[in-house]
Amino acid sequence: MTELNRAINRLQAEFTRRTRILDQNQGWLATGALSAQAWLRRECHLTAAAAADRVRMGRRLDDLPQTAAAFGEGAISLQHASLLCRTCDLVGVEPTREAEPILVEAACELDPRQLRIVTERFRYCTDPDGVAREADSLFDRRYFDLSQTWDGIYFLNGMFDAESGEVLKTALNALLPPPAGDDPRSAGQRRADALLELCRQCLDSGSLPQRGGQKPHLHLLAELGALQKLMGAAAPELNRQQMVPAETARRIACDAGLSTETSGQNGAGAGDVLSLMSRVVSGATRRALWQRDGGCRFPGCDRPPDWTDAHHIVHWADGGETELGNLVLLCRRHHRQVHEQGWRLASDEGGSLRAVPP
Ligand SMILES: [Zn+2]
Ligand SMILES: [Zn+2]
Repeated sequence: MTELNRAINRLQAEFTRRTRILDQNQGWLATGALSAQAWLRRECHLTAAAAADRVRMGRRLDDLPQTAAAFGEGAISLQHASLLCRTCDLVGVEPTREAEPILVEAACELDPRQLRIVTERFRYCTDPDGVAREADSLFDRRYFDLSQTWDGIYFLNGMFDAESGEVLKTALNALLPPPAGDDPRSAGQRRADALLELCRQCLDSGSLPQRGGQKPHLHLLAELGALQKLMGAAAPELNRQQMVPAETARRIACDAGLSTETSGQNGAGAGDVLSLMSRVVSGATRRALWQRDGGCRFPGCDRPPDWTDAHHIVHWADGGETELGNLVLLCRRHHRQVHEQGWRLASDEGGSLRAVPP
């Protein structure tokens, strides 16, 4: 395998060397192509970026004889050689030539990712202003889009500079414990859950600035009949625009602040808010619940209380009491599992809970 790998490297070096000759002699003219890049794309089926990189490398390797030699012997790969050429583009020929013995030695020992760190350090030593300028321009390219499709699905798309990316990663990792053996979620699903958890804990903490005189919060509008899953009840809505299924509304309502609105049939104006109630689970009950459960009560789960909702075993919409005997803490994932996915929680004699699959 290692021999084969060296041979592949040697062939790549030869390919790059001949690209240089094609480029220099304008051999591509004979076929009617417009440039060496265009020829490589058409005849060798390279992407535009790969073709441009080959041509650029071919030219740059003229300035870097030691890199070209190591590449030619198969001691370093195409990625290594490309990285050293790019470093030379950024730093200049003179400083790169001076450091070339060290850089090539590093390239022979390290994988391209580790080599990138070495070349970045080298660049920082020789051209600190250039590094600062580049960091600034990368920061300017940041953006973040959040767009909704007709199906209601949200797409996230964005780019962050290195520092901002590290901030994001550090915060997400804090909410991303190592996967448990029986965790069926993909890495992407776990990251999505972590991002959501970050936002929910932020909303729950009440530390965000007020908007329109209120702390930001999700607003669920639902008829009692919808929460009782009666036929014919109007569809529950989130933030007055997004329809949600009845069971999802029941889960959200399980641990929510309530206000009661009437439609104004009995004399009051349409849409009048007649009474405001506090959270379903009051502060005192919640504290007792945190104390008693200490985190998610789903068997085998170790999520701390910050990650949980208070779940009514018999939903309050069905007449269940909001008192300790009818409440358990469940993390968001298990709360969803109990509502939307139909798992049931049953008490054993010892008072511990048993999860019964649907
Ligand atoms: Zn619930
Ligand atoms: Zn849990």
